[in-house]
Amino acid sequence: MESMRVVVIGAGYVGLTTGMALAHVGHFVHFIDTDSSKISLLREGRPPFHEPGLVEMLEMNVQRTSFHEKVGEFVGGADVIMVAVGTPPKASGEADTSFVEEAATEVTKYLREGTNYTIVIKSTVPIGTNHKIAELIRRLLKKQKIETHVHVASNPEFLREGRALRDALYPDRIVVGAFDPIAAGMLRKLYLPILNQDFQAPPSIPRPNNFPSPQLITTDPASSEMIKYAANAFLATKISYINEIAGLCEKVGADIIEVSRGVGLDPRIGPDFLNAGLGWGGSCFPKDTLAMLSMGSEFGYEMPIVEATRTVNYMQRANVIRKLQQELGPLRGKTVGILGLAFKPGTDDVRDAPALDVIRKLLELGAYVRVHDPVALGNAREVLGSDADLEYCNDAYDVAEEADALVLATEWPEYKQLSLERLIGAMRRKLIIDGRNFLPSGVVRELGCKYVGMGRRI
Ligand code: NAD
Repeated sequence: MESMRVVVIGAGYVGLTTGMALAHVGHFVHFIDTDSSKISLLREGRPPFHEPGLVEMLEMNVQRTSFHEKVGEFVGGADVIMVAVGTPPKASGEADTSFVEEAATEVTKYLREGTNYTIVIKSTVPIGTNHKIAELIRRLLKKQKIETHVHVASNPEFLREGRALRDALYPDRIVVGAFDPIAAGMLRKLYLPILNQDFQAPPSIPRPNNFPSPQLITTDPASSEMIKYAANAFLATKISYINEIAGLCEKVGADIIEVSRGVGLDPRIGPDFLNAGLGWGGSCFPKDTLAMLSMGSEFGYEMPIVEATRTVNYMQRANVIRKLQQELGPLRGKTVGILGLAFKPGTDDVRDAPALDVIRKLLELGAYVRVHDPVALGNAREVLGSDADLEYCNDAYDVAEEADALVLATEWPEYKQLSLERLIGAMRRKLIIDGRNFLPSGVVRELGCKYVGMGRRI
């Protein structure tokens, strides 16, 4: 394979993991991030966030990676420049693409005369952004009086936090949106080892058995941008749909676990994303569904399915509070333990995590709250801050101490290993609200504790 010189702008969940995968398959990757604390950690070989396999990948690929706080002359020598900065929601719900524009403006300053560059937009961006970035670069180059060839391509990312490196090395598909055959060709070359699966798998992230070559889908930029939004909104809808059914199960005496199993075995539906619970959070589904609504409203186009998906999702958080009130009456002065703060297991990301909203509401209602997470305690503390009524516990058993109820908010596999006897034994009142239908309800009940799931038959 031909090694390429790659620059990745934004060393976050997407940029760092994608760039490390590209380095692992043989490319040379310069990472740039304006967050100097992130760069300092990376230079020491320490990951700035929790992601399985990242420590090993940083170590294995140290010769093919470098980390920078600023764009510099080295950008001029790149073949591919990948933009993976954040696109957070504005107050209006629209995705803010100013970081993408900033990154494109910065790199353009260092492009060399008479060279070929492919600039890849990996961030999730509203439809039309690739076109806008191409135009922005064209104007800047004209002002700089530099004649060079810049090809802009969309290449949305589908990785899942908690298994990001696995997804980057063994993706389901790679989507490229480009009108320009040169950009499409460069991306094919960049991903060739991943498309052919002919690289040596890292020991900590082995290739799944019988893993097929992923498909490369080449399309126009607008369709490529839309594929990302449509995929995320569909997944979010699937979860909200099963949560809505779970609510009805509670009314009519059906059990959502049985229902999901029976429904998911239909190959047209599939079993994934049919787990009822506290709903989705994180940095993608909330902001991407919001951005879709905003794009629709630009055209006066209503999107009632996406809107309902969001409504149902946020109702789940309120449902947990309602369940606690039903069991405990007023929550003022009650102690509630929360197991899990990350928006899902395998990550320390707490952006729009359901647990955090539940905690905020409990504090507002006058409860004492004790919380634990295997890796996200620090990030949660940064968001929630200190509060006399909120205690961060390093040990999962500590959250149960004199608790009137426990809420399981994130289904960390570690929580399956806890001694329920010890956990329940420490509680003042024996009540578990299982926000993820994760704990063995029978065992909990045998230990004399009330078990309340989401959509479960009581
Ligand atoms: P992140 O916040 O983890 O990382 C973004 C990084 O970009 C930060 O470290 C920030 O310091 C840096 N940055 C911002 N402006 C910069 C600039 N001008 N120059 C250099 N660095 C800059 O975000 P993320 O979760 O990696 O998401 C990045 C994009 O990918 C978003 O558009 C997101 O929607 C999309 N995406 C995220 C995921 C996910 O699971 N996190 C999955 C698919 C797509």
